[in-house]
Amino acid sequence: MKILVTGGAGFIGSAVCRHLIADTDHSVVNLDKLTYAATLGSVAPIEENPRYRFARGDILDRRFVSELLDAEKPDAVMHLAAESHVDRSIDGPGDFIQTNIVGTYELLESVRAYWAKLPDSRKANFRFHHISTDEVYGDLPLDDSLFTEDTPYAPSSPYSASKAASDHLAMAWFHTYHLPVVLSNCSNNYGPFHFPEKLIPLMILNGLEGRRLPVYGRGENVRDWLYVGDHAKALALVATKGVPGRSYNIGGRNERSNLTVVETICDTLDRLAPPLNTGPRRQLIDFVTDRPGHDLRYAIDATRIETELGWRAEETFDTGLEKTIRWYLDNESWWRPIREKRYSGERLGSKTAE
Ligand code: NAD
Repeated sequence: MKILVTGGAGFIGSAVCRHLIADTDHSVVNLDKLTYAATLGSVAPIEENPRYRFARGDILDRRFVSELLDAEKPDAVMHLAAESHVDRSIDGPGDFIQTNIVGTYELLESVRAYWAKLPDSRKANFRFHHISTDEVYGDLPLDDSLFTEDTPYAPSSPYSASKAASDHLAMAWFHTYHLPVVLSNCSNNYGPFHFPEKLIPLMILNGLEGRRLPVYGRGENVRDWLYVGDHAKALALVATKGVPGRSYNIGGRNERSNLTVVETICDTLDRLAPPLNTGPRRQLIDFVTDRPGHDLRYAIDATRIETELGWRAEETFDTGLEKTIRWYLDNESWWRPIREKRYSGERLGSKTAE
């Protein structure tokens, strides 16, 4: 298959591109605008592969996307391009509305026109895979309840509201125009090449350098953590084997409070990285004013993708986190320029991130 991946220079999109090229026979066209969140270094391992091609462009540019589709003739589109940072959506929601809602609409229309021209034999097998978040479901109490695919949408932040809107658009294109849409909603990802403004890389890098570790509220908010390599494999299955009109929840069955995450990072760094003169890294933890509308808990029931598509997360939080920390220790040349340019812990001020 040839797969057009949007947002393939971002964190999860690049993991998808690397997985498709390294572990399957599929070809990839990576369409990315290269916003601040993109790094071409994250696709450097595959850039010479003849089955991989990069196309710089904007999903909002219907003419560009239509010409690309007609020229490349993909069998599937995996749509990951988005504005993805919750704190940024609170400070300035405009880009989230444009990219996540209007951008998804423009892309759906480009793809629908392309798909309508395909011969019947290819039309039925085509897939438009819209990649979304569990944040569309709102939040859960601190008990053992889980989000299922039937949980009603109740987004809290401008980011999650924009993703919820785009999910509804994608499913409406299935019901109204019969475009073969599949949808997936996943929990918080972590792993190599994660942009240094997000919670786990920010804490790893601040902890490494002995800077303070800002944690919202008392750090009680709970997230289900999914290793990005596991997620990439799940997404490839949904895109190639998912049933049109269906959504799939993807989670790691790895619930942790934010405080536990940061403490585990501190302890792992104390073990793997040079010690700090100031003592154990847990002393760097600094509780800061909570984020407005901060969801208490997210947790995914991944039974459908596990039973229907045979996927299961392979990494536990401890194994995935250790791999991730080792990757940051070994890949300073990737994160140092990004961090020095824009996202040192000092400049983030009181902000932490997910
Ligand atoms: P990211 O911010 O790392 O990457 C987004 C990519 O999209 C960037 O490379 C950017 O250049 C590109 N992009 C942005 N606007 C574009 C446009 N108009 N045209 C073309 N490209 C554009 O995001 P991510 O963390 O990799 O997330 C990917 C997808 O997964 C998003 O849709 C996000 O909502 C969803 N998601 C992410 C998480 C997570 O934990 N990171 C969790 C659930 C869902």
